[in-house]
Amino acid sequence: MQIKRLKLSGFKSFVEPAELRIEPGLTGVVGPNGCGKSNLLEAIRWVMGENSPKSMRSGGMEDVIFAGTESRPPRDFAEVVLHAEDDDGEDLDVTRRIERGAGSAYRVNGNDVRAKDVSLTFADAATGAHSPALVSQGKIAQVIAAKPAERRQMLEEAAGIAGLHVRRRDAESKLRSTEKNLERLEDLMAGLD
Ligand code: ATP
Repeated sequence: MQIKRLKLSGFKSFVEPAELRIEPGLTGVVGPNGCGKSNLLEAIRWVMGENSPKSMRSGGMEDVIFAGTESRPPRDFAEVVLHAEDDDGEDLDVTRRIERGAGSAYRVNGNDVRAKDVSLTFADAATGAHSPALVSQGKIAQVIAAKPAERRQMLEEAAGIAGLHVRRRDAESKLRSTEKNLERLEDLMAGLD
């Protein structure tokens, strides 16, 4: 998958709509302290389904909405649109929007989808909110200091098999509830004898 464009509006310091083109190859973001470099990377993670406010350097998810400054009022919503091309050359437009008091909503190519669908789409394409392709400040030191289990997780993300764990958990939970239903059925049938 190739990320082509990123559009932000009301996301953290990006109060005005901003659009960035992301060219093939390695992209570096440079700029003075506090100009929003990390916010950009967080916007990519956020639209890919990141749900931990802590990894967004926020107390709660609504903190990603522009909070206002002395001269500008706060915004009521934040929106990030990621335009990508999948490995078959098909367009993929993913939008995540959060409104104060209303939580997050996701759209893929104009259709409403669940957060899980978005996370799985990116996980299957060997990218996503925790992808090693997104290298934030301090990440290199973190990789060096990582425990073996954490390193394995990084390799799984890179290999595109992270989504399989989610599907395994879903399948296990379905299996458990089916087993319970079977037990109840057996009890009922025993009562009929
Ligand atoms: P550094 O080089 O110091 O790490 P940076 O370029 O990575 O900085 P960021 O950390 O991305 O900068 O941006 C920090 C700026 O974003 C701060 O000025 C902060 O006030 C602003 N900011 C963060 N969240 C919000 C928000 N919800 N509303 C308004 N501004 C915000």
